[in-house]
Amino acid sequence: MAPSSKLVKTNSLPSHQRSLVQPLGSPRHKRVSALFRAPESSLLQEEFVTAASGEAHHQARARRASDETLAVHAGEKLAGKKDADVGGTGTETDSTATPIVSGTTHWFKSSEDLIAFKEGRRHSFEYGRYSNPTVKVLEEKISALERAEATLVTSSGMNAITTTLLALVPPGGHIVTTTDCYSEARVFIRDRLSMMGAIRSTFVDLDDGMKSLKAVLDENDDVALFYTDSPTNPMLKCVDIRHVAELCHRKGALVCIDSTMASPINQKPLTLGADLVLHSAIKYMAGHHDAIAGCVSGSEALITRIRAWHHHLGGVISPSAAYMVIRGLKTMALRVEAHNSTALRMARMLERHPKIERVHYPGLESSPWHELARTRMSGYGGVVSFELKADLRGTMRFVDALEIPFIATSLGGCESLVQQPAVMSFWGHSEEDKAKNGIKDNLVRFSFGIEKFEDLRDDILQALNKI
Ligand SMILES: *Cc1c(COP(=O)(O)O)cnc(C)c1O
Repeated sequence: MAPSSKLVKTNSLPSHQRSLVQPLGSPRHKRVSALFRAPESSLLQEEFVTAASGEAHHQARARRASDETLAVHAGEKLAGKKDADVGGTGTETDSTATPIVSGTTHWFKSSEDLIAFKEGRRHSFEYGRYSNPTVKVLEEKISALERAEATLVTSSGMNAITTTLLALVPPGGHIVTTTDCYSEARVFIRDRLSMMGAIRSTFVDLDDGMKSLKAVLDENDDVALFYTDSPTNPMLKCVDIRHVAELCHRKGALVCIDSTMASPINQKPLTLGADLVLHSAIKYMAGHHDAIAGCVSGSEALITRIRAWHHHLGGVISPSAAYMVIRGLKTMALRVEAHNSTALRMARMLERHPKIERVHYPGLESSPWHELARTRMSGYGGVVSFELKADLRGTMRFVDALEIPFIATSLGGCESLVQQPAVMSFWGHSEEDKAKNGIKDNLVRFSFGIEKFEDLRDDILQALNKI
């Protein structure tokens, strides 16, 4: 893509778009671009709709932009244009698709121009490890969806997790997490973080209604961060984020939620009181099992602290991968609706099937997490875990008889994936180790894709007959 093209002639555009291409720095331009930067208040979103309509009589119909609309447009329509009047090198274009800016460094017109940048009078991206125009568009889009002031996009979900923990847990500090959190994050906390600067870690069980979390907070004054997934993987337990945030904030501890299993469509931890929300963006966000990325969102102040560590650790996403996530996000609301619907219908069917012992899905009334999920989430996601009335080999026969899903790890993409944790993650582990992690030989984790419900249902029913 050309590094910079001139602003389109506004009179060649339809009127509703003309109002979006206002002279830079004009009050209306500022109002419109404000939405795409940090739509934390519904007022800004109302202004977007009002400004975009361009007609006074439409003002009465102005309303809050929905996730569906934000997923398509936030961060994009005006990306980079706000810098054009001061010679910025953003993604100024009239292309409907955000350009992939592959340049790794950004040039200055003169030493004076460079000094203006150093003194903060002019914006530049400067160098690819610090930021990139395509990545910035993605960050603004995620901020809009999570109702966050700021977002840092990283090379992977694990990079978002490790960078966040390193930035926010001080030497000698104390981190509390759950026995259910993502396995590699758990290992990082237990085996690596705890070796660095005497960081203490405590693991609490989610099943006790947060009693042990409360006890740890009561007995210690040094808890810097509570970190957990919600829902968890593969047992789909849920955390009462609102309650946890109250408990932690009373003791000055931050709350960070890995919301990967929910997606920004089904759950918004920041609106429930969490300080930070992070995702493995590979999953529902990118949505096609074809791009690796991660992100963390929160207040400007917290993200600035994490970003400083990111500059040093260097876990930068490539602009091409960032574009893949932007593209994926445009259809995320539609996809997640399909995942939610198929998974819930399937969970209900499986629960009644004679060859199924137990189904784990927070959307089921029988789930101990249902009430919590129902009041805190707007959907339950595409992953369903279930136990067959079969042993290890019988469960393997079921998995092998399935024709539609791939036998593969990961989740949240268009294609259904199936795995038996005892084989995929715990093959060769001791019975004791499996029991400690709550992994039974007959457990199956199914990530429902967006294939037709009836096709997936028939496939599962025929495979159950092969046990
Ligand atoms: C996949 C996943 C991660 C790790 O993210 P990567 O992008 O693979 O590094 C973290 N948390 C959850 C819940 C995940 O599903």
